[in-house]
Amino acid sequence: MRIVLVGPPGAGKGTQASFLAENLSIPHISTGDLFRANISQGTPLGQKAQEYMRAGQLVPDEVTIGMAKSRMEEPDAAGGFLLDGFPRNIAQAVALDSFLDETGQKLDAVLDLEVPEDEVVKRIAGRRICRSDSSHVFHVEYSPPKKDGVCDVCGGELYQRDDDREETVRKRLAVYHSETEPIIDHYKVQGLVTTISALGEVGDVTARAMAALRRD
Ligand SMILES: [Zn+2]
Repeated sequence: MRIVLVGPPGAGKGTQASFLAENLSIPHISTGDLFRANISQGTPLGQKAQEYMRAGQLVPDEVTIGMAKSRMEEPDAAGGFLLDGFPRNIAQAVALDSFLDETGQKLDAVLDLEVPEDEVVKRIAGRRICRSDSSHVFHVEYSPPKKDGVCDVCGGELYQRDDDREETVRKRLAVYHSETEPIIDHYKVQGLVTTISALGEVGDVTARAMAALRRD
């Protein structure tokens, strides 16, 4: 199966992507991993990406598209793949369409994870991270520490990352609405979009997604 996973920040997209890819025995291709791999291997595209990132600029679409294409051409992706974070705008979606056309492949589904905006803000803005160990993660509402502001595991101080602040989250959501959401309409025209709710337990969301994909 060839699947594109879309959803706003805070939808748990990365987590769902790895579970779904495992269930479907296809590689999980995430933009984050693509960038890390290309940069650490020093590929020409990785070097280009790094130049832009060092200058604090957005990596141009053609660089991201190039990385995604070469990853989709690897042998383990011959039977399918799950794309996570790509395409993230119309230009990338159009490039993906042409790549698939040229290589005689087709997408089977575009899975759209839906979460109400206020829930996204609540999920992210409520996160508290331990200063001593960033793997100690709490949530003011969903998994509060026993003592306010103190890590249950090691007694470290809990804090809110700048990235998790409400105004930052709202900005990321605005970018998602203007840049990424239009690809959902793009794929609706092709009859590929399946929308599922990303609310509830992680395992329930995966089960919902698997059921939706089987129906397709
Ligand atoms: Zn801790």
